[in-house]
Amino acid sequence: MNFASDNAGPAHPRVMEALARAGEGYAMPYGNDPVTADAVGAIRDLFEAPEAEVAFVGTGTAANALALSCLVRPFETVYCSSMAHIEEDECNAPEFFTGGAKMTLLHAPDGLIDPAAFAAALAATRDRGVHGAQAGALSITQITERGTAYSLAEIGRLADMARDAGIPVHLDGARFANACAALGCTAAEMTWKAGVDAVSFGGTKNGCLGVEAVVMFRPEHGRELALRRKRSGHLWSKQRYLSAQMSAYVEDGLWLEMAGAANAACARLAEAVRAVPSGRLAHAPAGNMIYADLPRAAHRRAMAAGAQYYIYPSDTPLDGPDDTPIRCRLVCDWSKPLSEIERIAAAWEGRKA
Ligand SMILES: *Cc1c(COP(=O)(O)O)cnc(C)c1O
Repeated sequence: MNFASDNAGPAHPRVMEALARAGEGYAMPYGNDPVTADAVGAIRDLFEAPEAEVAFVGTGTAANALALSCLVRPFETVYCSSMAHIEEDECNAPEFFTGGAKMTLLHAPDGLIDPAAFAAALAATRDRGVHGAQAGALSITQITERGTAYSLAEIGRLADMARDAGIPVHLDGARFANACAALGCTAAEMTWKAGVDAVSFGGTKNGCLGVEAVVMFRPEHGRELALRRKRSGHLWSKQRYLSAQMSAYVEDGLWLEMAGAANAACARLAEAVRAVPSGRLAHAPAGNMIYADLPRAAHRRAMAAGAQYYIYPSDTPLDGPDDTPIRCRLVCDWSKPLSEIERIAAAWEGRKA
């Protein structure tokens, strides 16, 4: 009963089989191999962007930091939600890769950037003139860090504001597939058709072993992306092993199939939360991750039954008054069996599974 994260789950067998195939014999290094050419082609097809620059890296942090380093200069700032992964969970990698660009944190109810807060931050940047950080880029996350999703119209609106301010838009898509599956839209609709310039297209959390694609829709960024990837130590010499995962991931819609399964499991989990007396969801669930408040006794029973997930704050004692609501995060991946959800639901409610 591991609901800690989607990256606690396994890689899909088709991804592993593709890795084994990619390992047959010799191939030229540093991406000069047919497996990589195929994977880059597959990503360009998926995004309906034949000119896009595509680079495969091993972590989402590297993808975000590399993409941002191509978009902003050291004296600029990245506008992002106050709970953005690039702000809270990357140990200043974006600041490091950009050579010192800062983050300007925006009010983001339920993880969704408030356009008024973005407008106010842009105005404040202009007012400070040469003394303050300059406008650099907007970064949004989809699925957000609170498990919610922007509609395409909401992405378009934020991107329009960024365009009016003369700055590009980056999308952190660690859970990109879950968002596409939830919105029923294409990869192109959620990105360049809505005004997004660069994407971190996640694979690891949704059934890959470890691969993310940086996709940049403006060709002028291509050379810089290649150089920055090498400079930062993210150009794998055996690139074919990253590429093979990505090919298998997008082939025959596997990425959407897995995301759909994860989202469906999470929807069932959300029902289970609502079935617990005084259980409530903290934010409207959209994909494969929910935040919920459950009574302390429910957490105690679930943990005793072997469930694993994060509670907040993490040092909240499980001994104490039974009814106190305690916040938790629950995530489902593509492989989550419904039987595990039935078991955790029974434990929360204190009945036999
Ligand atoms: C998991 C995640 C990432 C990438 O994390 P890595 O551990 O570096 O692969 C990026 N953004 C968000 C929103 C995430 O949840």
